[in-house]
Amino acid sequence: MEMLHKRILEDGNALSENVLKVDSFLNHQVDPELMYEMGTQFKNYFKEHGITKIFTIESSGIAPAVMTAMQMNLPMVTLKKEASKILNGDVYQTTVHSFTKGKDYELTLSKKYVTAEDCVLVIDDFLANGEAALGAARLAEESGAKVAGIGIVIEKSFQPGRKMLEDKGYEVYSLARIAKLGKDLIEFVK
Ligand code: 5GP
Repeated sequence: MEMLHKRILEDGNALSENVLKVDSFLNHQVDPELMYEMGTQFKNYFKEHGITKIFTIESSGIAPAVMTAMQMNLPMVTLKKEASKILNGDVYQTTVHSFTKGKDYELTLSKKYVTAEDCVLVIDDFLANGEAALGAARLAEESGAKVAGIGIVIEKSFQPGRKMLEDKGYEVYSLARIAKLGKDLIEFVK
């Protein structure tokens, strides 16, 4: 996605060879026009997949996921990183290891918002080792729902997430694929 590539090159900041900071348009301040364009791209790619619901993981997946849901005219469900007092009772939960925080959290979904008839698209901001996306897929499947695909805004293709997810049979579509990160260096997959 040209507009995203350009923005990553202009505003992205490689904190190390493994972590990209994009606080100015995705992870802290959000650029709605860019998010809308992401929604268009995801919709165009996944429109024939029979999707009934979009799942995302709080919090940075919400903006691209809601823009996709709006354009596909579907509901979006935010998976919580901790079970709040409001979500008591009937929940699906799974443990996910956080790439950025280096610790585990309990990804949580109320049973009210998924059924065995659902066909789910998982959308997230980054793909590194694939733990977050896999956790989201696990929660959907626990209810009997199908996972039709995984949509990622920024994939770090030098990390193992895509291969792991594809090996498990998931279709992964990423708007930007980074081949290499380093000091003053952001290289996309050609
Ligand atoms: P994974 O579960 O694939 O290892 O990591 C994906 C999750 O970690 C994403 O939900 C995202 O929040 C976070 N993450 C992974 N790599 C990066 C990165 O380079 N930059 C930022 N800002 N977040 C990342």
